[in-house]
Amino acid sequence: MNGRIVLLLLAMVLLRPIEASATPQRPDRLLLLVFDQMRPDYIDRFGLKNFQKLRTESTNYPNAIVGHLGAETVVSHLVLSSGRLPRDLPWQDEVLLDKQGLLGAPGAFYATGLLGPDQLLKLMRTLPKESLLPFLVKRRRPGLVAAVGEKDYAALTFGTGQADTVVTMRKIQGKCTPDGIAVPAYIATKDRFKLDCSKAYGTEGSFYPMDGARFVPGDDPKHLGGDAWVTDAAIELMDHEDWSALLLTFGGIDKIGHLTGEADGPMPLDFNPQYHLEDALRIADAQLGRLLAELERRHLRDRTLVVVTADHGSQANTRYLGMGHSAKAIAGPAAGDEMPAFWMRHVMESGHVAAHFQDSAIRVWLTDTTQKNRDAVLGALKVVSGVTEIHALVQEDAGWHYRRVYEALDKQPAAFQAWAKATSQPLVDSMANEAAPTFIALLADGVGFDLLGDHGGAQEKVQRIPLIVFDPTRKPQVASEQIGLWQVRDLIVAAMGLGATRRHEDGTLP
Ligand SMILES: [Zn+2]
Repeated sequence: MNGRIVLLLLAMVLLRPIEASATPQRPDRLLLLVFDQMRPDYIDRFGLKNFQKLRTESTNYPNAIVGHLGAETVVSHLVLSSGRLPRDLPWQDEVLLDKQGLLGAPGAFYATGLLGPDQLLKLMRTLPKESLLPFLVKRRRPGLVAAVGEKDYAALTFGTGQADTVVTMRKIQGKCTPDGIAVPAYIATKDRFKLDCSKAYGTEGSFYPMDGARFVPGDDPKHLGGDAWVTDAAIELMDHEDWSALLLTFGGIDKIGHLTGEADGPMPLDFNPQYHLEDALRIADAQLGRLLAELERRHLRDRTLVVVTADHGSQANTRYLGMGHSAKAIAGPAAGDEMPAFWMRHVMESGHVAAHFQDSAIRVWLTDTTQKNRDAVLGALKVVSGVTEIHALVQEDAGWHYRRVYEALDKQPAAFQAWAKATSQPLVDSMANEAAPTFIALLADGVGFDLLGDHGGAQEKVQRIPLIVFDPTRKPQVASEQIGLWQVRDLIVAAMGLGATRRHEDGTLP
């Protein structure tokens, strides 16, 4: 045999597997994983092996941030799936001012996280479907698109109303059962997916007691709850369906993070939880490993875009201004039963306040916008402990935005000042529209209301999130740009060739 024929045969042998595997030039499936309240520093602090491994194989974005306010679950999931900032969405925060009366009387306020599925779907239908990720994925490859998660509004808003199925759970009389939209019978009726949601696992005395096995595995090995439940539901979908996208949101870290405030280390607690933050992280890491192994086993790893991120970070509220029972034990500036509610009562009594919401930032809505009322409420906000900046909503020729009307940054550490100077203005402007709060008061690091561990505001620890994009057709790299959650949709559109809906110059989508 002469050399040329040998080369020819060799070439044929080498070429054959490439033809046979028919790997697409671009990934045509999407696994989008949101670990609720996950911070990027947890990966190495806790040695999370599966996160670490995926990160080395992927494009890692160490400077990824939430990039909007409110840094909340009910906002961020829709930002991710729609590619829009909150100002261009039907809600911007945990409080929704329904100015146009889409849900009822015009001008009514709602708690966004408490809206029913029909109300959320109604609001999301105001968005053009051609810009929504579930629609774009299906247009490229018509397989099943599903959203799955323990938290009903997280899964529902992730799916945008365009997903074929939304799998979540609902709790009735201490039992959690599958619920959502078009839940397949093989999940809805399977005994494995029914959970005991009655036990508190040592958190009885806390302000945010455990919902049985809703967010944690629990004590019944045949009916594991929390993130294992989400993963098992996803694997069930993989078993039964030709799927194109699985949008999975894992609520375990968020539950324990809020409950214990252990984001930066142990906290003094007056209850003894059976699960700590480290447990929640190890459970989440194990689920990531299981899902990647499933892709491998099904020979889908080389055609699936895997995106791992979070909807917001977390800070320990070491200067606690909130209402929680347990928090009183570690309350910051003063103790006593009157203290936690004090600051917001002080604001409420200063003038006519239509609505307010506070976590790691304070938002106040005024319907009486006379100068007298504005001045009175602004004056009260300025003296709230830990306020670093106050921004007021204004309408000008260019549209709605926020103008800073107060700042006390010089009292803050240099790193906080640098972070605030770079991020505060774009963050408050991300929610500026006619229904946005009249005032946003930003708070110092470690200052917050509501729960021991919390988010919602502009602090660096709240804003920084992991963003790991595994594209089987691309080499691993570190991408240094500061990217926000509203831009993740564009990364996915580009990687999968979903046919871009082009942005206007101001960043909005048509
Ligand atoms: Zn969240």
